[in-house]
Amino acid sequence: MIKTSSDSLFQPRAHAYRAAIIHTLDDPARVGIDTSYQYFEDGLLIVENGLIKAVGPAETLLATLAGDTHITVYKNALITPGFVDTHIHYPQTGMIASYGEQLLDWLNNYTFPEEDKFADKDYAGNVAEIFLNELLRNGTTTALVFGTVHPQSVDAFFEAAESRNLRMIAGKVMMDRNAPETLTDTAESSYHDSKRLIERWHGKGRLHYAVTPRFAPTSSDQQLTLAGKLLTEYPQLYMHTHLSENRQEIEWVKALFPNHSGYLDVYDHFNLLGERSVFAHGVHLCDDECKRLAESDSALAFCPTSNLFLGSGLFDLAKAEQHNIKVGLGTDVGAGTSFSMLQTLNEAYKVMQLQGKKLNPFKSLYLATLGGARALKLDDKIGTLQPGTEADFAVLDYHATPLMAYRMQQTTSIEERLFVLMTLGDDRAIKATYVMGKALHSRGEPSSQ
Ligand SMILES: [Zn+2]
Repeated sequence: MIKTSSDSLFQPRAHAYRAAIIHTLDDPARVGIDTSYQYFEDGLLIVENGLIKAVGPAETLLATLAGDTHITVYKNALITPGFVDTHIHYPQTGMIASYGEQLLDWLNNYTFPEEDKFADKDYAGNVAEIFLNELLRNGTTTALVFGTVHPQSVDAFFEAAESRNLRMIAGKVMMDRNAPETLTDTAESSYHDSKRLIERWHGKGRLHYAVTPRFAPTSSDQQLTLAGKLLTEYPQLYMHTHLSENRQEIEWVKALFPNHSGYLDVYDHFNLLGERSVFAHGVHLCDDECKRLAESDSALAFCPTSNLFLGSGLFDLAKAEQHNIKVGLGTDVGAGTSFSMLQTLNEAYKVMQLQGKKLNPFKSLYLATLGGARALKLDDKIGTLQPGTEADFAVLDYHATPLMAYRMQQTTSIEERLFVLMTLGDDRAIKATYVMGKALHSRGEPSSQ
């Protein structure tokens, strides 16, 4: 049957997408590159009721299709799982690309004044719309997201995510000291506000809640104690915070918590480590901290554009791999400089180069998809194109720009094409983004069959 643009409102029982298709099956660092992925040069992805029904070579799967299946053909395109961004701040959308500071001054001079505006729920709602549209324009279908200290910022975010049926994780910032008065809560109020939000949103549709202390310096002992208490009171809650991003920050943590052996130990003491705990950055970690992260099954979010932009340092991915720590990729907008996971991988590659190491394109794909899903304990649902998982996927355009189209002519393997996408690609390389089988973003029309 012919697929036209007006079909987007009409959901047939099954829909098939024909293009080159790739997804990762495991971490290349663990299983070796060759067995880490599945690739179909002329592939077919079959979606039924929002879930992936089958993926494989078009040649074999076409014969299995029911007669009423719509087929959409994408030429010069590559289908991947939707990208998973494991660390981002939606309230910082309006202050991305703010000049000249490192972490602590950047927070005071740019971040806090902007976050103040989220006391107004309408303002928050508008930014949430812009933010989610921007994620979808970049092929990102799931993210772990900071709100502000205001509970209404999280209501606004979840309302916007729910209306798009997105799998999203977010939470209210807990911050009761070392921040402007208008942006601080109290240990008590942060506990009760978080609790209300958890009861309203956690597990509703595809939404999850993350207990979100900003970072150790802006929380009192009492607040961190209550953050740990929330995690024990509700099953499957996430914990999302920052860790060892900047040297000055680490010194500050030492001064504020002199009785702890290090930065991670502060969080550990308050029971904030665990299989759904995600720590952004971890740029300056000692071996003991790496061991403890692995032991507790906590995850790190590698945020290369942010680490370079704020001059924080170079994340040591090889060290994380050696210790078997789960790692996802984060854009960390607004300290990060792009919503694009492709651009984030471009900078990740350079961060590794500066350390004399390589970042293989299949490992990059893993970080942006299944690795992120594993960091979030969602790999049974997203980050892959395995049958039975949710049909969140992106269609990448090999010919997004004249230069990419020309460069692609010189490539002879999927490895090379992936690397070109990850080096030259950005939002222009996202031809379409599908959420539960529904196109929520598209550039131009697919070819028809
Ligand atoms: Zn951050």
